Amino acid sequence: MRWVAVVGARPNFMKIAPIYRAAVKHEGIEFFLVHTGQHYDGGMSDVFFDDLGLPQPDIHLGVGSGTHASQTGRVMVKFEEAVQEHGADLVIVVGDVNSTLAGALVASKLRIPLAHVEAGFRSYDRDMPEEINRVLTDAVSDFLFTPSEEASSNLLKEGIEKDRIFLVGDVMIDNLFANAGKAARSGIGKELGVEKGEYAVLTVHRPANVDSHETLSAIIDALRELSCRVRLVFPLHPRTEKMLSRHGLLEDLRAIRNLIVSRPLGAMDFQWLLTNARLVLTDSGGVQAESSALGVPCLTLRDRTERNETVKLGTNVLVGLDGDRIIMEAEKALSGSRPEPARISLWDGKASERIVEALLARRDSDRGGFRL
Ligand code: UDP
Repeated sequence: MRWVAVVGARPNFMKIAPIYRAAVKHEGIEFFLVHTGQHYDGGMSDVFFDDLGLPQPDIHLGVGSGTHASQTGRVMVKFEEAVQEHGADLVIVVGDVNSTLAGALVASKLRIPLAHVEAGFRSYDRDMPEEINRVLTDAVSDFLFTPSEEASSNLLKEGIEKDRIFLVGDVMIDNLFANAGKAARSGIGKELGVEKGEYAVLTVHRPANVDSHETLSAIIDALRELSCRVRLVFPLHPRTEKMLSRHGLLEDLRAIRNLIVSRPLGAMDFQWLLTNARLVLTDSGGVQAESSALGVPCLTLRDRTERNETVKLGTNVLVGLDGDRIIMEAEKALSGSRPEPARISLWDGKASERIVEALLARRDSDRGGFRL
């Protein structure tokens, strides 16, 4: 059986890697990897293939950046051609980026069985383009693999049939566990000149935070103040760097004395940096889960999250872009002892195995394909 997986952006590589590892253990599954090229520079793409032990993509669609419509449309056109040429018994899409939605629309219209991994996450914030991708991808998927009970219940509320929903846990956590040993050997601490437990790490890239001068200035002001209390490491997402330059704020950021600006990091280097951080500030979805699993206090620079379990049971606090709140919560975290890693149901490193088992169980051995 040919399982065609669509990946395009950094978080996709993190999510597909454990699924790839679980699938190729089974003879009879041919895992065919399609890279859409949504993220294309080395630091956002190539390094993840090496770090995560992913094979080189079978096909590269090379779509590059663009507006949402042009990027989604280009992936659709090229992915449709690829699937028609190479064939697919199943298409797997992960997460919530434009490539996820484009792959889902193509597969569903070609009537190829479609699996969505990380189904059911909802921030209920349509200002996030990812939220629109999530809702639409879930609506057309045949197999919806959810990371949490809340995600499953979100799908039920949208009228999705129960027997299409599989609660399997969070594949991001699979990666974290699988890579712990390799990440521990990273030399990034030395390279950046930071010691374990003596710095905070920051990741920001959501359009709502980085597209306007106002929000970027609010972030820089908060960082300036926070840098008086703790050393900061900021691996800059290319989008954030572009927006800082466009708004003439890159030099203001670089001028903060106790803040190290770095390139976006590979998976192992970033895992080392996160594991050994005193605190993380982020607007990333994945980092909220990873920090809770590692027991690193996390301040999320958003007003809502699709990962409420990390707030209820983990280390996550939603602080938005309110400078006073950021400093107050950061001080609280910096003065307290390190929290325990969160114990969250199905965060056991086996979500991907459950996904592959569930798919194999739905194979239709008489007619080939799947029972839908
Ligand atoms: N990450 C990374 N290098 C970095 C920053 C993040 O490897 O410099 C990883 C992080 O550990 C997480 C994933 O990238 O697994 C999150 O990606 P991103 O924040 O781009 O997407 P989101 O999770 O918000 O969809």
